[in-house]
Amino acid sequence: MYDVVIIGGGPAGLTAAIYNARARLKVLVLEKTKLGGQIVSTHEIANFPGSIKGAEEETSGPELIKRMAEQAEQFGAEIQLRKEVTDLDLEGRVKKITCKDGTVYESHAVICANGAFPREIGCVGERELAGKGVSYCATCDGAFFEDMEVFVIGGGNSAVEEAMFITTFARKVTIIQNLSDLTADAIAVESVKANDKIDYIYDSVVDSIEGDGMVEAMTIRNTKTDELTRFEANEDDGLFGIFVFIGNIPSTKLYEGKVPLNEYGYMVTDEAMCTPIEGVFAAGDMRPKVLRQVVTATGDGAIAAFSAQKYVERIKKGGSSTMIELTVDNFAAEVIEQDKPVLVDWWGETCENCLALMPDVEDLYAQYGNQIRFTKFNTSQKKVRRFCIQHKILGLPVISIYQNGEKVDEVAKDDCTKEAIEDIIKKYI
Ligand SMILES: Cc1cc2nc3c(=O)[nH]c(=O)nc-3n(C[C@H](O)[C@H](O)[C@H](O)COP(=O)(O)OP(=O)(O)OC[C@H]3O[C@@H](n4cnc5c(N)ncnc54)[C@H](O)[C@@H]3O)c2cc1C
Repeated sequence: MYDVVIIGGGPAGLTAAIYNARARLKVLVLEKTKLGGQIVSTHEIANFPGSIKGAEEETSGPELIKRMAEQAEQFGAEIQLRKEVTDLDLEGRVKKITCKDGTVYESHAVICANGAFPREIGCVGERELAGKGVSYCATCDGAFFEDMEVFVIGGGNSAVEEAMFITTFARKVTIIQNLSDLTADAIAVESVKANDKIDYIYDSVVDSIEGDGMVEAMTIRNTKTDELTRFEANEDDGLFGIFVFIGNIPSTKLYEGKVPLNEYGYMVTDEAMCTPIEGVFAAGDMRPKVLRQVVTATGDGAIAAFSAQKYVERIKKGGSSTMIELTVDNFAAEVIEQDKPVLVDWWGETCENCLALMPDVEDLYAQYGNQIRFTKFNTSQKKVRRFCIQHKILGLPVISIYQNGEKVDEVAKDDCTKEAIEDIIKKYI
C-alpha cells in the first residue's frame, strides 16, 4: 500500500515525487516508457529559471530530468519504468492502479501527471513513415540527418527552437507554417531569423508523405491558393527528414468516465490541483492552462504533492477525508440529526478572512477530524440568505459547533483564530 502513486515520470510527476518523498510518504512513480516526458525530446531547455544559454554547464532536457529523478530517489521515492497504467479504480479510500502487465498497485492518493503527446499532421503516409524520416523528437533523431535536408512543420516556440537545433546536423532546414508568420516568442523568432541555414514556407500544410520504407517525397498545399508543391529527396541523399512540432494532445483517455475532463480532454482541477474525485490530484500539461512549460508543470507538481500530502495525513488520522460540503438541503441530515458534535465553517467566496482561515481549519480537521464532524457551508451559494439569517449568520467568518441539533458554541469575525477554534473544539471532544 503506497501513500501516493504518481502516474507519469515527466517534470510534473517527478517534482511531485520529490515533494512527497521529502514529506516521508511512501511514493511510487509509474512511467510507461522512459523518464522525462516531452522535455527529453529537446536539447535546449528555454525559459527554465537557471538554464542559461551558452553557460559552461548548459542544461539539456535529459540532464535536468536525470537530476530530478535522482533527487526523488534520494528521498526514497520508487520509480518504475515501462509501467503503463491502463486502468484505475478511484472510488473509495483505497485507489487501485492497474498496469498493462497486470500488476495492480494500491494507494491512498493518486497524482495524475500523464502530460501530453505530439499532435500528428494527420496526412497520408505520416503514420507509415513515422520513425523512417518522420519524427516528433529532434534530440532523439536530429543526428540521423547529418548533412541532409530537413523540413520542420510548425511555427511556434517548439518548432523554431528545434529547427535551430537541427541546423547543427542538417545541411538545410525549411520551416513549413500554416499561418502567414511564425507564432514563437520574439527572442526565438530573432534567433531563428538570424540563422541562414533556415528557410520558410508560409500558409502551407503537408498534404501527403511518400516513400518506400523511408521518406522520399512530400507534397504541401498552399492554404490560400490550394496550389500543390512536391518535394523530392536529393538523389545523393535518397531521403529527407520531416520533424513535426504542431502542438500536443492531453494524455487523458485513461480517465474518461472516471475523472471529469473538459471539452478538449484536459483534466479539471482547482488551484490546489484537486480534482472533484476525492484523493485524486492532477498536475502538468494534462491540465487546462495558458502556458505549457517545464516551470508550470513543476509548479503544479509541487502543489499537487502538497495537497496529496495533506489528504493522506487527514485520512491516516481517521478523519473523514474531505470536509462535508453543506447545502440548505443536506444541513438537517449532516448537522442537526448527528449524534457527534459538528463543526460548521461558514465561509464566503469573497470573504478574504474566510479564505485565509481555511488552512488553519484544515489543520484542525487533520488533528480532530476523527472526534468531531467537520463541515463547511458556502454562503455564496444561491438562495441561502434567509437560511443564514435563521442560523444568525450575519457576518463572516463564523465557526459554529452544533450538538444534538442545537448550536452550542461559536466564534466569529476577528475572534476566529486557530487557537480560539481549537478551544471550542476541545470543549466537545
Ligand atoms: C519538442 C519540445 C520542446 C520543448 N521545449 C521546452 C523548453 O525549452 N522549455 C520548457 O519549459 N518547456 C518545453 N517544452 C514543454 C515541456 O516539455 C512540457 O511542458 C513538460 O514536459 C510537461 O511536463 P508534464 O510532466 O506535465 O508532462 P510530460 O512531459 O508529457 O510527461 C508525462 C509523462 O507521463 C507518461 N505517461 C503518460 N501516460 C501514461 C500512463 N498511462 N502510464 C504511465 N505513464 C504515462 C509519459 O510517458 C510521460 O513520460 C517542450 C516540449 C516539446 C514537445
